[in-house]
Amino acid sequence: MASGRSSGDGGDGDESPAMRRLRRISLHLLDPSLTPTDAEPEALALAACAAGPRRVQGGAEVSASLAAYLRGRHRETQARVFEFFRGRPDLQTPVEMSTAAHRDLCFRQLRALVRDAGVRPLSLMADDPSEYFAVMEAAGGVDISLGVKFGVQYSLWGGSIINLGTKKHRDKFFEGIDNLDIPGCFAMTELHHGSNVQALQTTATFDPVADEFIINTPNDGAIKWWIGNAAVHGKYATVFARLILPLQGKGGTPADMGIHAFIVPIRNLETHVVLPGIEINDCGHKIGLNGVDNGALRFRSVRIPRDNLLNRFGDVSRDGKYTSSLPTINKRFAATLGELVGGRVGIAYSSVGILKVAVTIATRYALLRQQFGPPKQPEISVLDYQSHQHKLMPMLASSYAFHFATIYLVDKYSEMKKTNDEDVIADVHVLSSGLKAYITSYTAKSISICRESCGGHGYAAVNRFGALRNDHDIFQTFEGDNTVLLQQVAGDLLKQYQEKFTRNLKLEVK
Ligand SMILES: Cc1cc2nc3c(=O)[nH]c(=O)nc-3n(C[C@H](O)[C@H](O)[C@H](O)COP(=O)(O)OP(=O)(O)OC[C@H]3O[C@@H](n4cnc5c(N)ncnc54)[C@H](O)[C@@H]3O)c2cc1C
Repeated sequence: MASGRSSGDGGDGDESPAMRRLRRISLHLLDPSLTPTDAEPEALALAACAAGPRRVQGGAEVSASLAAYLRGRHRETQARVFEFFRGRPDLQTPVEMSTAAHRDLCFRQLRALVRDAGVRPLSLMADDPSEYFAVMEAAGGVDISLGVKFGVQYSLWGGSIINLGTKKHRDKFFEGIDNLDIPGCFAMTELHHGSNVQALQTTATFDPVADEFIINTPNDGAIKWWIGNAAVHGKYATVFARLILPLQGKGGTPADMGIHAFIVPIRNLETHVVLPGIEINDCGHKIGLNGVDNGALRFRSVRIPRDNLLNRFGDVSRDGKYTSSLPTINKRFAATLGELVGGRVGIAYSSVGILKVAVTIATRYALLRQQFGPPKQPEISVLDYQSHQHKLMPMLASSYAFHFATIYLVDKYSEMKKTNDEDVIADVHVLSSGLKAYITSYTAKSISICRESCGGHGYAAVNRFGALRNDHDIFQTFEGDNTVLLQQVAGDLLKQYQEKFTRNLKLEVK
């Protein structure tokens, strides 16, 4: 570290860097409340953390204006969410509870947020995605299960209707999803296929006589698995399946048009009884996120109207003809998955929210916690130890960096939704994949370091690190496994490099 000190100050001009460091450490240990002198200019003064927390003069104002700056234009929205839950002790998540009770509470929390606090998440998502993500972050701050349940209902189930459907679907479902009359699921993953979505095996075969699709699970490996909202609360599911047109392949064989999304009712809207042909099983107690009811869905030749195909990128006419503005299965698949990128944006954004919570708890504790100190003097705050600063400060700095990075991502996403510009779509895809993978891996590791930074007290469930760590862990896997996402980013960067290289070569040849 550059000291900025002249060699004639009677201090460490003749010292080696190692000796200088040792001397500083010993000063630190002997007199932590050292005030700046000529020999130790202000820039090097030790932080006055020791002997109990002391507020820097004007600190409250600084932190209030910093908080206002960070929260940006959605500060009040987030404050309203926190205020609402603070005023509702009946909705606070206790430290210990059964899976069933947690699921029930999580649904009540979401319903209260929508019906009592008057938040309309799907409208926010359609009108102002950045406000939508701000509410989701705040909900996750209350209980990560609530943030994820919110994401399942609105980013996934609602998002599939808005982004993959057309006007008829929005007219029919928008209000019911928004006000939570119609809790729903996003049923993509199967027992045998998670990352490799193109290999899904569930089929949707068109029956031109009845003008219906028949949704079928052909084998155990094709059972939809891990589906949020399926075990208890969901009424509908957006089911991803291979669209099969009978007799339209070569030589009158069935034609496989690739993966499409279909709206499938799974429970009776009034009685909540599971509908005929649908089999639902519970994925059971998980290592985290137990407020979310993940389930498995099996379809036994379930018939749905032709209109239930989410037909933005491909449609089937009454006489069974397939039409699409996109020429190939691969292009349709890319467009379909591209539209679902909002879920990934939400995960990256929420992961930063969780990192902020963990780092805040650990840093505040480090300021309060005192261990060791100079002889016959008060013990000093653990935040004064350089090793502790090395643990916490990079995470604190990263929280700021990730905060601004995800705000940029959300702005880009909003721009993409408004303009549908192809370059912006490509940017959002690669940026969301890279940031989601990097941030969620970083947060997962950081929560453990934060727990450790609080010593034994970090292990008490009431201090939240266990729940934060376990609930957040799966952020590294869902909405795209991190390894697979990073491969996509690498692939995209190589493609860009290749394009640039080819362009330069062409210029040279000319
Ligand atoms: C709590 C929870 C909630 C979920 N909610 C939903 C939901 O609501 N709807 C839904 O559809 N799904 C949901 N999922 C499923 C989730 O999206 C999948 O688990 C995820 O996509 C990963 O798929 P997988 O589990 O099959 O893992 P796999 O793809 O089998 O991955 C297993 C391992 O193999 C590695 N791997 C895979 N492919 C490659 C490769 N090409 N190169 C190198 N390594 C590779 C991965 O990195 C990983 O470590 C949920 C899952 C959980 C646990």
